[in-house]
Amino acid sequence: MNNPIVFSDFDGTITERDVLMSIVEHFAPPFWKEIWKKIFTRELTISEGVRQLFHLIPSSRKEEIVNWVLKNMKIREGFQEFLIFLKKKDIPFVVVSGGLDFYIYPLLEPYKELITAIYSNKAKFDEKYIEVEFIYKCNDVCKEDCGMCKPYIMEKYYKNKRPWIYIGDSITDLTAAGLSDIIFARDYLAKTLRDLKIQYFPFNNFIDIRQKMIKLI
Ligand code: MG
Ligand code: ZN
Repeated sequence: MNNPIVFSDFDGTITERDVLMSIVEHFAPPFWKEIWKKIFTRELTISEGVRQLFHLIPSSRKEEIVNWVLKNMKIREGFQEFLIFLKKKDIPFVVVSGGLDFYIYPLLEPYKELITAIYSNKAKFDEKYIEVEFIYKCNDVCKEDCGMCKPYIMEKYYKNKRPWIYIGDSITDLTAAGLSDIIFARDYLAKTLRDLKIQYFPFNNFIDIRQKMIKLI
């Protein structure tokens, strides 16, 4: 494989647990469960759901949340070695996340020199409750109202014909994974791809991905 580019989800992919969900579970009042249900029954789009979930949390808790995240959320094994491997091979690593910048950047701070770009939603703390700003909205490639549209980013900024490798874990990765040449998947994404009979490589950590990639490139 020549000259690939790697796109990766953040929550539950780079991190062991879904940080967005963990924050909501820990910091939002129990009503979050009603909103969460509506996202799954599609009464709410993903972007509207994320907006409503964070609107349950006071802006004043920002620092407390970031400290809690840094203390409790773990990066998946082999991540740094994987990034160094990519850097040596001159393969770009781009994070495409439906999560929020205010916890992604602190968690990725130790690796920032090794990461090509990070795309995510933006959290705002000027009002009483946290507001979410959606910068990268869907276009005609995708009409899901993702909030942060992964296919949109990939098509807009990376549409030259180099092979796309996608790493993800969730249902929100499905469209982006489907556009990619090689998929690494775990959890719900893996299950869904299996049902759809779309080929993917399973992974538990970034050591698995690096070993597979050494064979592929
Ligand atoms: Mg995820
Ligand atoms: Zn979209």
